[in-house]
Amino acid sequence: MKNISNISLSGKKVLIRVDFNVPLDEYFNITDDSRIRASLPTIKKVIQDGGKTIIMSHLGRPRNGFEERFSLKHIVKHLSDLLETSVGFSSDCIGENTSADIGNMKNGDILVLENLRFYTEEELGDPAFAKQLARLADVYVNDAFGTAHRAHASTAIIADYFPNEKYFGLLLSSEISSLKIALEKPKRPFTAIIGGDKITGKIDVVTSLFNKVDSLIIGGGMAYTFAKAMGGKIGNSLIEEDKVELAKSLIATAKEKGVRLLLPADSVNADAFNNDSNIQNSKITNVPDGFMGLDIGPKSITQFSKAILDSKTIIWNGPMGVFEMENFSNGTKKIGEAICKATENGAFSLVGGGDSVAAVKQFGFADKVSYISTGGGAMLEYLEGKELPGVVAIEN
Ligand code: AMP
Repeated sequence: MKNISNISLSGKKVLIRVDFNVPLDEYFNITDDSRIRASLPTIKKVIQDGGKTIIMSHLGRPRNGFEERFSLKHIVKHLSDLLETSVGFSSDCIGENTSADIGNMKNGDILVLENLRFYTEEELGDPAFAKQLARLADVYVNDAFGTAHRAHASTAIIADYFPNEKYFGLLLSSEISSLKIALEKPKRPFTAIIGGDKITGKIDVVTSLFNKVDSLIIGGGMAYTFAKAMGGKIGNSLIEEDKVELAKSLIATAKEKGVRLLLPADSVNADAFNNDSNIQNSKITNVPDGFMGLDIGPKSITQFSKAILDSKTIIWNGPMGVFEMENFSNGTKKIGEAICKATENGAFSLVGGGDSVAAVKQFGFADKVSYISTGGGAMLEYLEGKELPGVVAIEN
């Protein structure tokens, strides 16, 4: 991959697209800085080479122009603390003032530009906007895996204006390398674990994984649509009625393709969607009326853990239950533990998707899996076999 590790950026103006879309509290404190930390190696490389680091990102979903709560000025101090050096800020991302701010930079300096999405042109992939961004620098680096599946101005279109000076950042190239380890020559058995609330949004990845994996574990809310498809009774559990037929056909496809489809055998049920509800366990196909399934039960944990421990390659996207509530976090925690154990035994494990990553961190597993992806949607699209515009733009 064309990444920056083997080139010198000395004296160059280097425009890096990062993903600083971090959660902020009401006082604009960053509540999870993983995405910022993940971009530090690339930024440090430019600093060490003696280049000028110009950082661009989006933050949140501004509707129409500037909104205080989405200003990237809120992250400048934290970035400066992490880098242990001063970081400048430009109150726009294009135009004369920004050009002037860049004109004042010295080699080794760092400047953060204002939120790209204050311009609607960003998400529209507007070439004129991309061109204005491109004018700011000599070299373009994409290090934003979280938005690599979007053909936005700063993630893909801009690359056209840097035919010979476009590169992957160190984060983006390690994300792709990790996914390639899992997809191109996975050590077998290869197991994928898909959870979360709904089948919608994950159906394409489930379908395409049938062509790659030996075992597919399904947990979380989507498992109840499968339980219904098997003729089960699921009480008030999450159900996507319009996906029941699809679930039936997925069960059939797994058989045809020789993929072991593992659905939860049992369910932890609650009479209300809160941690203090009355709780009981049942078969997943026999959830009583008035109860909803919010976690996988002990039999499922045993069965899933065994499959995971037998695996040599594991990918995980989506929690096994409502892990945010302690009483329904056990399934996700135990599956996480099994993944860590398998990794310790030599398996390659890759975790992605906002909620699974949050779970891995919540339970202290972050150092015990092989790779944590910073991109949920981008990871899913890559696993589906789709080309990511942000990747293609640099490769072509
Ligand atoms: P996703 O973004 O698709 O990975 O979904 C993550 C969300 O699914 C989390 O907020 C979980 O609380 C939720 N979830 C997992 N299992 C269930 C379940 N059995 N019922 C309802 N929500 C669930």
